[in-house]
Amino acid sequence: MRRLGSAGTRRTVAACVEAGPLDFGAMPTYRAPRGTRDLLPVERAAFARLEAVAADLARRYGYAPIDTPLFEQSEVFERGIGAVTDVVEKELFRVLPSRGEERERWALRPEATAGIVRAYLQHGLQTWPQPVRLSLFGPMFRYDRPQAGRFRQFWQWDVEAIGDAGPAVDAELIELGLRFYAEAGLSDVQVLLNSIGDPASRPAYLEALTAYFRSHQRELPEPELARLATNPLRLLDSKDPAMAALVAAAPRSMDHLCAACRSHFEGLQAHLRALGVPVRLESTLVRGLDYYTRTAFEYYRVGEEGQQAALGGGGRYDGLAELLGGKPTPGIGFALGLDRVALALEGGGPAGAARGGLVAVVVGADPRDTATRLRLATDLRAAGIPARADLGEHRLGRQLEGAARDGAHFAVIVGDELADGQVQVRDLAAGSQHSTNVVDLARELTRSEGSHHHG
Ligand code: AMP
Repeated sequence: MRRLGSAGTRRTVAACVEAGPLDFGAMPTYRAPRGTRDLLPVERAAFARLEAVAADLARRYGYAPIDTPLFEQSEVFERGIGAVTDVVEKELFRVLPSRGEERERWALRPEATAGIVRAYLQHGLQTWPQPVRLSLFGPMFRYDRPQAGRFRQFWQWDVEAIGDAGPAVDAELIELGLRFYAEAGLSDVQVLLNSIGDPASRPAYLEALTAYFRSHQRELPEPELARLATNPLRLLDSKDPAMAALVAAAPRSMDHLCAACRSHFEGLQAHLRALGVPVRLESTLVRGLDYYTRTAFEYYRVGEEGQQAALGGGGRYDGLAELLGGKPTPGIGFALGLDRVALALEGGGPAGAARGGLVAVVVGADPRDTATRLRLATDLRAAGIPARADLGEHRLGRQLEGAARDGAHFAVIVGDELADGQVQVRDLAAGSQHSTNVVDLARELTRSEGSHHHG
């Protein structure tokens, strides 16, 4: 580790990234809250790249961008997601306004679907051509126990198709998720698929499931026993390793589907076959949220089908709009966790843009003439060229070292000939240098930068 000295405070992002972590010498007073993290430039660049892949796919597949508030009335989540779920029981971040006049109870969004469906109903999106295809990229919040790949603030790409009962649109979405992973650089992602039926087929299945777990009551850990009375489906989703064998032998929802659900499930599989998307049927996949009907799916890297390793998941929620006070409206969506994708790509994936992407650094022979350097850099930036000036009062050699360390392609060197409207342009990689008119500088740098990339 290196100590942060006076020189260190002026270190550029690129130089710091290459040199590794700094030792600040003492513990900082404040840290980011547990389970949250700062995305420093390298990580932020990785996220920006994932966001660009998602945005491009959303455009190609016709999913229009939407944003909803980071917090909603708690009821949107309590009704939509279900009261007897981890997400609402334990993980909801409730927001307490500091003044008393607000009667509302708010919570930070733990996922995007409930808020998007709330917006769909609020703004009358039923009157748009159906289905309405929407895409959202943003942070979600869950007061969960932090661990590897599990944060209290994390990012999701969320996609919804509202107003189409499927099953063709279900296949479109499942394939879209896989394509995201492939284009992001993860080629070994597979889909696990299940159908959990609908309100018509659910009672018979829940009865079979409850009877099964009751017959194994003595093997159930305490919290699971309590849940058996309130929401037996949750037991299939149990994170308790002691439950694994019991869950594996439990009755399967896909064996208890009503005729309409069975034909929907078969239709979905036929569409996936037509797309050449292989799936693995997984009878214990029920997803953590209550509002799902019929289609449920999750994305895993091959060999990582553990409870904590899902890269993303989704499903159909034909009952959600009604739960939120709207007319019955079918819908399906997925949420892909970007933190886990970024972690999976670290090391193996395409390199992120660690450097600032500077084209030029303006340096000068007179250390104290920061004003001229700043003005020239400002003019270059106004002309669209990524540029900075050396604003420390360093001698020229040090300024040039800084420009090279930043990975800039050119140093623009200000000297006495500025009086004649001239500056020197040094190609930092080639080591060559020539003088040019200040009035031509932006045009020349733009041209040279083009040949740098393509030449
Ligand atoms: P879920 O809505 O719980 O199915 O989450 C969808 C995806 O979001 C998961 O597959 C994860 O990749 C990601 N995710 C969910 N919760 C967290 C969390 N606490 N930290 C990081 N990623 C998460």
